[in-house]
Amino acid sequence: MIHHHPADNLLLGLAAGSLSGGAALLVTSHLEACAHCRDRLLVLEAAGGALLDALEPQALAPDALARTMAAIEAPALKSAPAERGGGLPSAPEGMRWPDALSVCSATPWRWIGPGMRWSRVSVPSDPMAKVFLLRMGAGKKLAMHTHGGCELTQVLHGRFHDGRDLFAVGDFDETDGTVLHQPEVQVSGECICLASIEGGLMFQGVIARTLGTLMGM
Ligand SMILES: [Zn+2]
Repeated sequence: MIHHHPADNLLLGLAAGSLSGGAALLVTSHLEACAHCRDRLLVLEAAGGALLDALEPQALAPDALARTMAAIEAPALKSAPAERGGGLPSAPEGMRWPDALSVCSATPWRWIGPGMRWSRVSVPSDPMAKVFLLRMGAGKKLAMHTHGGCELTQVLHGRFHDGRDLFAVGDFDETDGTVLHQPEVQVSGECICLASIEGGLMFQGVIARTLGTLMGM
């Protein structure tokens, strides 16, 4: 049962192609897991289509059809097999990576603290995207931190509580500089999250800040 979903503006941004590569990857990963949001997206797209239908007709430029066809064909070239990802780190038994990650490559798990590992994810469509996987052991806590910009998180395995609420497999979270939180993994098992950040994380405390620097965040 999924309790936390992306806001409508993220779903609409994905439909309109206006999200950054990192945000689009996060929302797409959520949609794979969430029938509720797939339905919601259809409703939003239908509403957008109705708005377009209500606009006054405008004469099209003579080359509009040719340009549209070229734009439709361009993404197909981009996702050619040569650009497929270079592999993902090991996953626990029974866990499957989202299909959305199949075009990405990621580093092997790297140690960042007792029971805590992370993997940097490269997004082919957005080389500057700050996307990473975080794998934390049962009962582990991430350092208290806030955000310079938007942080999106999709839970892929296990569950954590960050003082505001419980987030379990399939849940999506969006936080920003107004949220100071400390995610803590439940004792029932390890937790793996996919995260995208814009503007960096701001950790409290010297050790935590050092870890943040190591991660390039
Ligand atoms: Zn959802």
